[in-house]
Amino acid sequence: MVLLINPSSRQWNEEMLYGLFNTEEAELIKTIPLSSEASEDVLFLKMEDELPNEPQEVTNDEKQLWNGIWSMRVPPKVKTLLWRACREAIPTMSALFHRTISTDSLCVRCHANSEDSKHALWSCPDLDSVWSDMELWSFRFLV
Ligand SMILES: [Zn+2]
Repeated sequence: MVLLINPSSRQWNEEMLYGLFNTEEAELIKTIPLSSEASEDVLFLKMEDELPNEPQEVTNDEKQLWNGIWSMRVPPKVKTLLWRACREAIPTMSALFHRTISTDSLCVRCHANSEDSKHALWSCPDLDSVWSDMELWSFRFLV
């Protein structure tokens, strides 16, 4: 991580981030808060529960969801983002808190709710301007 974090300013090294990752990923990485104190790299990801021996049964709703996402006429990176959001696999504050990387799960934009994928991409009040076309996104508050 030493290459990705400027050791003197304790900020993300944006030149390295944008050089190593695509813009979307670099932007997401930049949202990860950094400690103000330098410390040695530590592997935070731990194996949670063991994987079940038998594959979990996929419900019809899940099949419909995955089929809907993978059949969308959008760039593959959009499908991947949606898939990751549905699996809570994007670095939201809630995910970082769950992995003990952050001490707080609150949304850094609105400071009013825990930031899970749905909140980060869809329901945060600070995103109102993004989803402002009420005709197109009128179902926003029904989800
Ligand atoms: Zn928010």
